[in-house]
Amino acid sequence: MTTTKRIDGKARSDRLLADVAAATAKLKAAAGIAPGLCAVLVGDDPASQVYVRNKGKSAAAAGIASFQEHLPASTSEAELLALIARLNADDKVDGILVQLPLPKHIDPQRVIDAIDPGKDVDGFHVRNVGLLWSGGQRQALVPCTPYGCLMLLRDELSSLSGAEAVVLGRSNIVGKPMAALLLGESCTVTVAHSKTRDLPAVLRRADIVVAAVGQPEMVRGDWIKNGAVVIDVGINRIAGADGKSKLVGDVAFAEAQGIAGAITPVPGGVGPMTIACLLRNTLIAACRRRGRAEPDI
Ligand code: NAP
Repeated sequence: MTTTKRIDGKARSDRLLADVAAATAKLKAAAGIAPGLCAVLVGDDPASQVYVRNKGKSAAAAGIASFQEHLPASTSEAELLALIARLNADDKVDGILVQLPLPKHIDPQRVIDAIDPGKDVDGFHVRNVGLLWSGGQRQALVPCTPYGCLMLLRDELSSLSGAEAVVLGRSNIVGKPMAALLLGESCTVTVAHSKTRDLPAVLRRADIVVAAVGQPEMVRGDWIKNGAVVIDVGINRIAGADGKSKLVGDVAFAEAQGIAGAITPVPGGVGPMTIACLLRNTLIAACRRRGRAEPDI
């Protein structure tokens, strides 16, 4: 029986945050530059407010200046685009993050594509997406969650080259950029989704599984190949046995024990990596905008 390693995303993200803080301090000392991140929140979605607050706290801890623009849900698309134009022109702002979802009357892609691609720290602008898919990853700002997953995979595997990777989910935020990153590592990549036939058989081929479906514990233990590395991106709130709600991933964590070689828990796996990678992107954006060498972190 395989011994399954629990991948500690919290510890890895703490190391990355420390690296970002050290590189930020060096940039300040050498050039008097303090990278700045502005989060734009439209409306009163409580979960979004918590995310934005947490991002602000982590930014401050890493020495990154954090700003917030909180607009009412009634804000028009034109007003939001005008704010984006102001932030694009503001030299204190190196990274612009528009918290999704936006109210229904606003087209999110139009807003994202109005962000200066050099400040698009979420990596969702069509220019950054194009760079990622056309081999220009080093010039792109790469989406944070998939990049965090890649960091965890690199820690686990001495080489990803030639590995069979199955990405479950094809969203623009996770699934598609994850597939691009794994292709960049010379994996053989399959992207599975809701129309995929015989999902268990597809997954059983995988040396690497990245699950990003938003379906609680959908991936069962017997869908996993012996020794596979499993990265669980899903965050699902369900009722626990004690009546209290609890968070679970897209993979049945308990069933994967003794089968997977390594697996990320939920919480404590991919989640903390996402915020750390956002701050890493902000630092990179600050360096690039000023023609300075990027830290190798
Ligand atoms: P999304 O936009 O809803 O996309 C879900 C994807 O899963 C779609 O491609 C969908 O297929 C596929 N899917 C849904 N049900 C399926 C099923 N029964 N069988 C096979 N495929 C199925 O979600 P997302 O934004 O990528 O997020 C996915 C999960 O990751 C969510 O739980 C989210 O909360 C979590 N997440 C976590 C982080 C983090 O920092 N840890 C960051 C982002 C997201 P179709 O395209 O065919 O509909």
